[in-house]
Amino acid sequence: MTGAELAAIRKAAGLSQTELAGRVGIGRHAVSYWECKREVERGAWAVERMAQVLALPDAPVIVPLRISFVERQQHGTADQDAAVLAMLQAVEDQVKAIRANRRVRCGAKTRKGAACRMRSEPGKRRCKFHGGKSTGAKTAEGKARIAEAQCRRWARWRWERRQ
Ligand SMILES: [Zn+2]
Repeated sequence: MTGAELAAIRKAAGLSQTELAGRVGIGRHAVSYWECKREVERGAWAVERMAQVLALPDAPVIVPLRISFVERQQHGTADQDAAVLAMLQAVEDQVKAIRANRRVRCGAKTRKGAACRMRSEPGKRRCKFHGGKSTGAKTAEGKARIAEAQCRRWARWRWERRQ
């Protein structure tokens, strides 16, 4: 779970940072600290406290948790879980929205051989100079062409690696 996902779960529960902190007896800054982290440590003391109020996933992602609810729904505890399922769906949608706008370090190999330090285009992995603005192939013909080129590129890579 990322800090952004933690924030999305808190918001889906309708709590401000201050409200959550007050309910579980931690400082607001602890909530803010973990929401800014790239990776939320599930075993950390403050995180454990937050988990008393929020439905935090044990696993690093939210989706498997949701699937387990879907499975339970199929086995007959539908009524209690419907509300939770709706909440998790809302969380997932928010997480998707956050991911769609996330800007990461581009990291493409530059002519100097170093990694590009520009920020990527929102929701993309590369900056505007390294393909972040590209939509990729759009026509069926174009898609076939890139598929074939990729196929040849990887075949060559495998061949070179064996040498
Ligand atoms: Zn770049």
